[in-house]
Amino acid sequence: MSKPTIFCVIGTRPEAIKVAPVMLEFKKFSDVCNPLLISTGQHKEILYQSLATFGLTPDEDLAIMQHGSTLAQVTCRALEGIDRLIAQHEPAYVLGQGDTTTTLVAAMGAFYRNVPFGHIEAGLRTDTVRNPFPEEYNRRVASVSADLHFPPTTWSRDNLLREHHDPSKIFVTGNTGIDAVVLAANQGEQPWYPDFTGRVVLLTTHRRENWGEPQKNIAKAALELVNRYPDILLVAAMHPNPTVREVLIPILGNHDRIKLIEPPEYELFVKLMQRSSLILSDSGGVQEEAPAFGIPVLVLRDTTERPEGVTAGTAKLVGTVAERIIDEGSALLGDPAAYKAMANAVSPYGDGKASERIRYLVLKSLGIETPAVPMWD
Ligand code: UDP
Repeated sequence: MSKPTIFCVIGTRPEAIKVAPVMLEFKKFSDVCNPLLISTGQHKEILYQSLATFGLTPDEDLAIMQHGSTLAQVTCRALEGIDRLIAQHEPAYVLGQGDTTTTLVAAMGAFYRNVPFGHIEAGLRTDTVRNPFPEEYNRRVASVSADLHFPPTTWSRDNLLREHHDPSKIFVTGNTGIDAVVLAANQGEQPWYPDFTGRVVLLTTHRRENWGEPQKNIAKAALELVNRYPDILLVAAMHPNPTVREVLIPILGNHDRIKLIEPPEYELFVKLMQRSSLILSDSGGVQEEAPAFGIPVLVLRDTTERPEGVTAGTAKLVGTVAERIIDEGSALLGDPAAYKAMANAVSPYGDGKASERIRYLVLKSLGIETPAVPMWD
């Protein structure tokens, strides 16, 4: 009997990072399965850069991205490409991660060809389908299409149960992003600012709903925090998107304690998080990763589909109004007791074994027994 092919589909940086440990896990079992890493190419450089940390490159790259494409155009190109690859390779299973347009087309492409689809990081929800846009829509469609759901936490599992998905198909695995961060943290040296003795504050902002005025407020607030606290070095890892840079550079580009840097490749970014005292971010992945190192995150959004960190006390939702960000930032930077309370909270997102659980469950559904790991709940 030939080995079943398993598609691990990625398109953007966060998917590359969170799927890489899953791909590596299936590769360990390549005597019984044939994992293929499929990229739609929704992101280009930063996707390859992130995969490099794990020694991976895509087996197929659809390279669908063209400058100025609408969401519908990206979706159509990616769906056509995935459909072609499914016809060519005849996978026994398709895996997608999270909530991007790539996730959406992986789910739809598998559904149209009647191939089972497994959804990694399933069950994250806000209360409105339009926010975050289009991610909330994408992940809901992925759930409808999924044969196996891999929610990272019991909160995300409960969201799926509330939507009446089959409980026997839902498994709490922990987040594969924690597997990735553990792999990256355990390799290489700490290269960031060895001679700087003050506190590093890391800023990342890229989300579509923060483009324009909200991002201006974020940049202004970060500048004010630097001016208030003379021991701070603000490091902004700038997303390549020009819309983001056009806002950040004029406000933050001319200060001797602010570094505007190109987005570091994943391993270096993980090291930069470890070097930071505080993180200001609208990124989903960063909200999950930072608590693994006990670093407080102020979340630059009004809602989050990752409330576990807020409940555990590792993250705080501060929105995008400048005064609020300045107040919350000052409350931590100026108060060691408040800081310590937040830095000591325990990460709720996983134990670094999510990929092993997913490998076990997918292969088992294909009738192949491999070593099991107890579930995360
Ligand atoms: N990341 C990175 N370099 C950077 C900024 C982020 O490698 O300069 C990583 C980060 O550790 C996380 C992922 O990229 O794993 C998050 O991606 P992003 O913020 O683009 O997307 P989101 O998580 O919000 O969907």
